Amino acid sequence: MAENLMDKVVSLCKRRGFIFQSSDIYGGLANTWDYGPYGVELKNNVKRSWWKSVVYERNDIFGMDAAILMHPKVWEASGHLKGFTDLLVDCKKCRKRFRADQVADKCPECGGGFTEARAFNLMLKTFLGPVEDVNSISYLRPETAQGIFVNFSNILDSKHPKLPFGLAQIGKSFRNEITPGNFTFRTREFEQMEVEYFVHPNDAEKSLEEWIDYRFNWYLALGLNKNNLRKRPHGKDELAHYALACTDIEYNFPFGWSELEGIANRTDFDLKQHERVSGKELRYLDEATKEKVLPYIIEPSGGVDRSILAFLADAYIEEKVKDDIRVVLKLHKDLAPTKVAVLPLLRNRPEIVELAKSIAADLKKSIITVYDDTGAIGKLYRRQDEVGTLLCVTVDVQSLEDKQVTVRERDSMQQERISIDRLKEYLQGRF
Ligand code: ATP
Repeated sequence: MAENLMDKVVSLCKRRGFIFQSSDIYGGLANTWDYGPYGVELKNNVKRSWWKSVVYERNDIFGMDAAILMHPKVWEASGHLKGFTDLLVDCKKCRKRFRADQVADKCPECGGGFTEARAFNLMLKTFLGPVEDVNSISYLRPETAQGIFVNFSNILDSKHPKLPFGLAQIGKSFRNEITPGNFTFRTREFEQMEVEYFVHPNDAEKSLEEWIDYRFNWYLALGLNKNNLRKRPHGKDELAHYALACTDIEYNFPFGWSELEGIANRTDFDLKQHERVSGKELRYLDEATKEKVLPYIIEPSGGVDRSILAFLADAYIEEKVKDDIRVVLKLHKDLAPTKVAVLPLLRNRPEIVELAKSIAADLKKSIITVYDDTGAIGKLYRRQDEVGTLLCVTVDVQSLEDKQVTVRERDSMQQERISIDRLKEYLQGRF
């Protein structure tokens, strides 16, 4: 199954409305994807789970949401204007472009030789206002982090936090990747979930280790198979220009082990640079020692889209049921886009349909519930399994008499009769 698991996930995403090719009716825009009805729910659930873990369940982290467009000086200070580059090579024969670190000396497409490698800046450039000249150049942020750093003193002044403390943010970032691909794994527009955690320099090393574990455990808690997850410390030669140390959390994607999230010690590089370029002091005053500290920053930086891809690939299961193959998305309960589906066993019996609809309407007030009567029950179950719905509630002829319904669980397919008046409470107890 491993070779074509990716094709199966991509196909399910399109067939059932998780992820579509962007601008499909125009032939599609390469490597750009739109999240459909189930995709947007899954995405929101991933983001909500992350936010809960890094903001709500802790006392030391605040949320924020900075603008995508920033003052161009930010990118000068951060080093992105000069240093955010990949080395690229062109094939002299077929003219295809590659990242120099991803190919040997011959073109993998046609066997041609390469040009000398040259630095290619990954930031997407645009112009603000009506005049397109050097003064109106702006950049779409290549990471959400800088929006946090430039607000450091605003947070000190408004929240008066004690070190260590952090800021969390989820948002779009843009990179003009030379070789995007592997579905949503590498795209030019993507969403990041980042924490910038400010610590006393003496505590940075320990904090980095704590964050690596904290984030690793988040993926495990949301159901990723532990055999598909690993930690990979960076070698000195692969560290980003701002990092002293970094460990990637990698997932065993259908195309091989690849980065899900990077957890880096960014030192005081960013605050120091912003101090220098903006001329504003960005120091933390330690009340106890009266010492002014330039904190170090520990940064867990994950991709929303990459984690969705990992959750989908991990959850995709094909099971033999009698003589049939059942496709089921065994997503964690917090991630499943729909929690409950209410299904009438006979759609041509108005009393059954009416009862099923009224049960669904009531559940919808507190549980993400759908109603579906567009097929025979076997087909309806199969549909819900494919999108990972946790529980199906079936209303049948007997329900009219005994005021009970059948509740079927996604993974075990076990069924239980539950009385309608305690259904909501029962279902709520299952999530
Ligand atoms: P890679 O080595 O794969 O290019 P990176 O090390 O440049 O990634 P970071 O700068 O550490 O990535 O970004 C943090 C996270 O943002 C990554 O772990 C990934 O989940 C996500 N991310 C980065 N670039 C992309 C992209 N082009 N498409 C989708 N997600 C991305």
